Amino acid sequence: MKIVKRTYRFRLYPNDSQKQLIEKTLGCSRQVYNDFLSLCKKEYEKDHNYKINKFELIKLLPKHKEKYPYLNEVDSVALQQTVIHLCDAYKNFFRHQSDFPKFKKKKNDYGYITMNINNSIRIERNEIQIPKIGKVRFVYHRNIPKSFQYSMVSVSRIGKHYYVALIGEEEYQEYKEFNKDVLDSSNSIGLDFSLTNLFISDSEVKENMPKYYEKSLTNLAREQRKLSHMIKGSNNYQEQLLKIANIHERITNQRKNYLHKASRYIANKYDYVFVEDLDLQEMSKRKEGFKLGPVINDLGYGVFLNQLKYKLEWLNKKLVKVNRYFPSSQLCSECGYRNIDLLLQNKTWVCPNCGVKHNRDINAAVNIKKEGIRMMLNPSN
Ligand SMILES: [Zn+2]
Repeated sequence: MKIVKRTYRFRLYPNDSQKQLIEKTLGCSRQVYNDFLSLCKKEYEKDHNYKINKFELIKLLPKHKEKYPYLNEVDSVALQQTVIHLCDAYKNFFRHQSDFPKFKKKKNDYGYITMNINNSIRIERNEIQIPKIGKVRFVYHRNIPKSFQYSMVSVSRIGKHYYVALIGEEEYQEYKEFNKDVLDSSNSIGLDFSLTNLFISDSEVKENMPKYYEKSLTNLAREQRKLSHMIKGSNNYQEQLLKIANIHERITNQRKNYLHKASRYIANKYDYVFVEDLDLQEMSKRKEGFKLGPVINDLGYGVFLNQLKYKLEWLNKKLVKVNRYFPSSQLCSECGYRNIDLLLQNKTWVCPNCGVKHNRDINAAVNIKKEGIRMMLNPSN
């Protein structure tokens, strides 16, 4: 049985006093982070080789609480996690992987992490028990499999909304052994990147984004227009900012869910997935001609490919990239003739050699698949 990491996130509906407690925990976490950071900073300034020790820092917490007794009113595990988080940030700095940790500001309060210790965090019907906060109403919108075990839990606020995320591991349900020796056109698929769709293959077309997503975008534009007519800093303005943050968040979630669904579908159905090795960053920088930039950024194709890659890996399946210079669009998938006169705007074309009429994208997808299978069967060529 294969074990995979999973996160389940749910909207929380805390009452007013619970909201206050969550805010208080965020505030106390920020204080501990900043206090301990200035401590580290002092040590670092004295000695540039100062190495942080997680356990020694955590041991300082009780003393700190004596000094600031209100720290006792919030989840102690959350404060420990804050110290661990600081240690990681400091270690990354030490390994030259990031800048010196920065002090946290109130406006950046986002969430805190706590641990599920001896079932301290548990779901009871439509409520979830969270340390110090108590039972909070939440929407249990998806079933968590029985095998799911979570040790870490995050509580966060985005815009006006609160969320809880359970972070853990579960057995991968759809896992089945697949035979790597079998490769044919039925268990493989070639995906062509497309500007108007998420992808196109020889047998499937996945539209770029569903209608509800476009609706949210229109909604966002409307609310942003409203904001532009408001007086900066006024109550209405602040309210509007929150409203916009919520729409943004909904859009992000819609996109994520859509891409997850699409990648899960492909990963479950096929053993080998062949894609072009596109330089998406380079393509989005290249603005001439098509104005590819904003389009590619919005398509989420890169995100999709990433998700597809790890979902396939969960299943011991393969995502294979076909050489960037393979002329997938120009080749006739019927006879192999290469049409070097093909222009970017040619959506369809007729092969001058064999007379077959091609849809540009579908033809490319067929070629990607053929090339992928060839690569797998003759890796030396
Ligand atoms: Zn042809």
